Amino acid sequence: MTAPTPPPSGTPTLAVFKLASCDGCQLTLLDCEDELLALTGRVHVAHFLEASSAVEPGPYDLALVEGSVSTPDDARRIRDIRARSRFLVTIGACATAGGIQALRNFADVEEFTRAVYARPEYIDTLATSTAVADHVDVDFELRGCPIDRRQLIEVITAFLAGRRPDVPDHSVCFACKRRGIVCVTVAHGTPCLGPVTHAGCGALCPAYGRGCYGCFGPSGSPNLRAMIPLLHRDGMDDRDVERLLRTFNAAAFDRELPRDGEEP
Ligand code: SF4
Ligand code: SF4
Repeated sequence: MTAPTPPPSGTPTLAVFKLASCDGCQLTLLDCEDELLALTGRVHVAHFLEASSAVEPGPYDLALVEGSVSTPDDARRIRDIRARSRFLVTIGACATAGGIQALRNFADVEEFTRAVYARPEYIDTLATSTAVADHVDVDFELRGCPIDRRQLIEVITAFLAGRRPDVPDHSVCFACKRRGIVCVTVAHGTPCLGPVTHAGCGALCPAYGRGCYGCFGPSGSPNLRAMIPLLHRDGMDDRDVERLLRTFNAAAFDRELPRDGEEP
């Protein structure tokens, strides 16, 4: 293996890391294609195992972290990554909300390991899958399962330019209105989480006539107390609602659920 070419002095360094995840969000970075070529002229990619086996130990100017903390090793690694990174941005539902693997948070993880593995004593896992921000300080959380490539480029360029990313936390509903998409709930009675889901996908599902199932996680100030009766009205029972909310962002939506005795 040839040694990596040293970056020109002053070139910011970018590192991409993975914890418990499917790699889909890192693939979004590779999927940027044209923008990626321009980007590699502006940054030095010092650690990105999905793209290159050449790695440098840091410190890094910007670290992108995919995946949730679901093992003791993840918890140790994220503290180490934080210590070596000037800015740390988490990417995707796994890293920002615990991901689909956070379904374990509502069950007994030991029961799962006994059911799935012939030798469960070899499995070293935490009882929960949690967001990176539950363990270390995070400079920005980019949502989605997977993330949106335009938002990713905006976040990277913003941090390199020293400004806050322009990624509003309004809802998918808002994005539908901006695109002039007919509301699937009003027009067809289709259950849709668009009113409480973070924008970023460009209202992809409603554009094709189907309801949003929340893959970008909760929007800013989501009103689930108002949302749940609407889902019931559109034919869902309590079990359906629970299943709808418990997908890629189960833990994040669970935090937003109204608790008994809580004011709206
Ligand atoms: S957020 Fe979704 S696409 Fe991204 S790593 Fe997790 S499961 Fe994969
Ligand atoms: S599920 Fe919702 S947030 Fe995800 S792509 Fe569809 S409309 Fe967008």
